[in-house]
Amino acid sequence: MKKTDELYSGKAKTIYRTEDPNLLIMDFRDSLTAFDGEKRSEVPKKGYYNARISKKIFELLEENGIKTHYREMLSDHEMLVDAVQIILVEVIVRNIAAGSMTRKYPFEEGQVLNEPVIVMDYKDDSRHDPMLNEDIAVALGLATRAELAEIRRTALKINEILKAYLDERGLILPDFKLEFGRRNSEIVLGDEISCDTCRLWDKKTGDSLDKDVFRFDKGDLAAAYREVARRVVPEIFD
Ligand code: UDP
Repeated sequence: MKKTDELYSGKAKTIYRTEDPNLLIMDFRDSLTAFDGEKRSEVPKKGYYNARISKKIFELLEENGIKTHYREMLSDHEMLVDAVQIILVEVIVRNIAAGSMTRKYPFEEGQVLNEPVIVMDYKDDSRHDPMLNEDIAVALGLATRAELAEIRRTALKINEILKAYLDERGLILPDFKLEFGRRNSEIVLGDEISCDTCRLWDKKTGDSLDKDVFRFDKGDLAAAYREVARRVVPEIFD
């Protein structure tokens, strides 16, 4: 499948159209940003590690009955996906308080939540992704109540699958972000699941192995992403 023209270039990925209107190519780049794009950098191999981690996780989810936009890898950093109608909602699943959860509410960093917390934000950088409730999401026409309920159920199921999978690999999953879309009339998981979109802590040391290394200058980002790749996709190091 060949790229035709560029559809959209985001902070870390570029999306290309293909000869088939139902298929897109997601190119995982080495660039990354934080704090609404204020902080930027390039990290060699970041796109490669994130693409391979995302591929593995999409396959894991598909095996467990979750529908995703994933089709196949076209190269080390290019993924063929279904063209879905994007739902402009960022779905954040939290198991342990961190990041904005501790800035906005009286939770301690590292506090284990009694049950997973789902937060849905309106995907709009110019408004700094304001938090939604169901009525606002419906009033904005982002999704129906039935779709929001299905997204919530699916996000919780993904959380259970991912938590167990990462735990076996010595990784704690405090929180992560999902995006969904519509493929014909069904809701499918879109975007990526990688070190850019998850918080991942080493089970033994508690060290961050995710974008927080970049956000808060905690050390060598390439080494952190490589360590996650070593545990999640060991086959790429053979
Ligand atoms: N996240 C993301 N994209 C965003 C916002 C958040 O992938 O635009 C992820 C982030 O990496 C973390 C989780 O969602 O794993 C929760 O992020 P939080 O709300 O704490 O925001 P942060 O403080 O990380 O900016």
